[in-house]
Amino acid sequence: MDISALAPLAAPLAALSYRTWACVCVSASLLYLRHISALARLPRDAPCPRFGFLFRLLYGLFGTTLAQAALAYLLHTREGTPQPEQLGGTTPRRTGPAELRVKLLPILGSAFGGNYSFLIWDEADEARRALVVDPADPHPVLAAAAAEGLRVVTLLNTHWHLDHAAGNRTFARKLPGLQVVASSAERTRPPAVTTLVRDQTVLEVGRLRVRCHHVPGHTQGSLCFEVYNVAAPQVPHAVFTGDAIFCGGCGALFEGSAHVLHAALGVLVSRLPRDSLIFPGHEYTEMLLRMACQREPSNQAAAKQLAQACHARLLRAKSLPTIPTTLAQELEYNPYLRASAEQLARMCGCVEE
Ligand SMILES: [Zn+2]
Repeated sequence: MDISALAPLAAPLAALSYRTWACVCVSASLLYLRHISALARLPRDAPCPRFGFLFRLLYGLFGTTLAQAALAYLLHTREGTPQPEQLGGTTPRRTGPAELRVKLLPILGSAFGGNYSFLIWDEADEARRALVVDPADPHPVLAAAAAEGLRVVTLLNTHWHLDHAAGNRTFARKLPGLQVVASSAERTRPPAVTTLVRDQTVLEVGRLRVRCHHVPGHTQGSLCFEVYNVAAPQVPHAVFTGDAIFCGGCGALFEGSAHVLHAALGVLVSRLPRDSLIFPGHEYTEMLLRMACQREPSNQAAAKQLAQACHARLLRAKSLPTIPTTLAQELEYNPYLRASAEQLARMCGCVEE
């Protein structure tokens, strides 16, 4: 924008009194506060009483345009600058068969405990279309797509938090016609959304299908995206769980109660094939497995998985993320997927072994 075009406004603005300026600033602040307060209104069953008004206000602030701009300025990498260190390594890693290729992209360094974005495509697609999950930092995702000769056509937002959705605007600006998908339960929160989806909505990109699963708890509209190739039924489905499920645990309950999340996880587990690959949004595996081992010291599967996660960290120079795992594995040690009443009671020491 040419700043000299604003020159004719300078004289009238300079003529305004201090009192007028003060009124404008106070009014703008009040309007902005009202906007934030509206965002901070969480559902009645929001879980933790310690989440007082101040927390809610700050939480609401986290979803504003101002916060998005600040995060983009502070954390987005620029072309030519190296990726900051991340627990899952810094090198993009390809996984999966040709029918359902997934590239793990470590982004945002360790600012939010190590985020992942994912590039997904079918090698047989001559149009080289790709989907992206949670592109909070646009540059590394666009660079990875270019390196693979892919054309990003769809962004999938697992939820509105900025460490997952802050890249939407830049993507939409750079790629006209881009489809940006988010939950209908979070319609105004993620930026630049073009398509709102509900539980069980199915999207199509070539031979790939994306089935959306609503798993509220971390946020009201949290989604897990189950991606599969209709031409390759033998290929395990890839499930992108955002902050709803992690390897060894689940996301913090910001906008829903434990009951809400527990019920949703039960439905999700009943729908997914056991060999589905679980791709969570953060590299929290080691921390969560330590907690799982504390809760269930006798769980051998948890101890074994923890040893593998520690091994991956020790080999960080070789960039070894601890994901994906499979649903079958998670069902062996993830306390939040195994919290049936009897097991939970045993873990808490409420009944004798
Ligand atoms: Zn997150």
